[in-house]
Amino acid sequence: MNPSDIVALQKEYVLPTYAPEKLLVRGKGVHVWDGDGRRYLDFTSGISVCNLGHCHPAVTEAIQQQAATLVHVSNLFMNELQPQLAAAIARHSFNGRVFFGNSGAEANEGMIKFARKFGHDRGRYEIICMEGSFHGRTLATLAATARAKYREGFEPNMPGFTFVPFNDVDKLAAAVTDKTVAILIEPVQGEGGVTPATHQFLATARALCDQHNLLLLFDEVQCGMARTGRMFAYQHHGIEPDAMSMAKALGNGYPIGAFTVQRKHEAVLGVGKHASTFGGTPLACAAALAVFTTMDSLDLLTHVQKLGERFRGGLVGLAGKYPVITDVRGLGLMLGVETSVPIAPAVTHAADHGLLVLSAGDNVLRLLPPLVVEEEDVDTAIHLLDQALGALA
Ligand code: PLP
Repeated sequence: MNPSDIVALQKEYVLPTYAPEKLLVRGKGVHVWDGDGRRYLDFTSGISVCNLGHCHPAVTEAIQQQAATLVHVSNLFMNELQPQLAAAIARHSFNGRVFFGNSGAEANEGMIKFARKFGHDRGRYEIICMEGSFHGRTLATLAATARAKYREGFEPNMPGFTFVPFNDVDKLAAAVTDKTVAILIEPVQGEGGVTPATHQFLATARALCDQHNLLLLFDEVQCGMARTGRMFAYQHHGIEPDAMSMAKALGNGYPIGAFTVQRKHEAVLGVGKHASTFGGTPLACAAALAVFTTMDSLDLLTHVQKLGERFRGGLVGLAGKYPVITDVRGLGLMLGVETSVPIAPAVTHAADHGLLVLSAGDNVLRLLPPLVVEEEDVDTAIHLLDQALGALA
């Protein structure tokens, strides 16, 4: 089928909840190709999903092999791969126990249910969330998401979520009430503008949770899986959560989400308390196991730290050149460039010249390259961003 026929089908049959402009048909490593055969350097990674690059051979092979062995049996039966993946998650984070789902929203939804159950008998159910947060589009995760616009038209909102300014320790401490059960934080906010939590903020949240017997919940859906130069972003701080969600890059594009809870909380969700038909299928777990194995074998964390520094250095250089750039921030290869003017024209300019990038809100350029980028890819991106940001000035 030719590209224009595909576009016509999209317009006629797919609900218009998105407004995609490009048709992408193939990917390899840091590149994707459109329907006309044009190649792009992809600094979106499918929104921090293809962290190992497109169609990484180890992940592709694991999926192919498992697809010919056993795809799905449901959680009424054990499969060989789910416990191995849970153990891999424990090895790469804290020694917890894991529930598997299929997406970031589903992982967070489960984590929210975990918190409600934890506080239930004490009448505690409120979760303190952050301004600038994004946790998903299901009803509970939407209620935990700061941007009111996303909730418009879907009221009444699910009760039990309050908001404080991100990184404001005093407001956080003041927000704890006798109804509070948990504090929910993205260690680096993604959609909210690529903003890292401060060490002091995370330490305060941990101390408040310890003091009041609350749960500290981290959403690592976007910032996890080596994106920031640590397997999970909280590891920059040495401050452990009571539970943590992950998804996106866990399967490098194969849908899988999960949340893991500290062992001391393993009894909170007992038999029959939560479920998901497709959670942790052999196929999804095979993909995710290949992701962990590959990340370990590549020594990816060191690579991310090194390339992240190079990329940040280039962006800081552009900030010196263009006064419209008001901030360069982020961690590892999760970088944001804030501008005093709307960023959309720069995103379009970059795409027109072969570089795919994202925005976060109206005035932050969000850069999420595959973690396997090489120096020349970063330098090409800086060159193209120089032109794109120059066109804004
Ligand atoms: N949490 C964070 C921090 C996210 O960035 C996202 C998606 O962008 C989600 C949750 C929701 O994940 P999903 O779109 O897989 O439901």
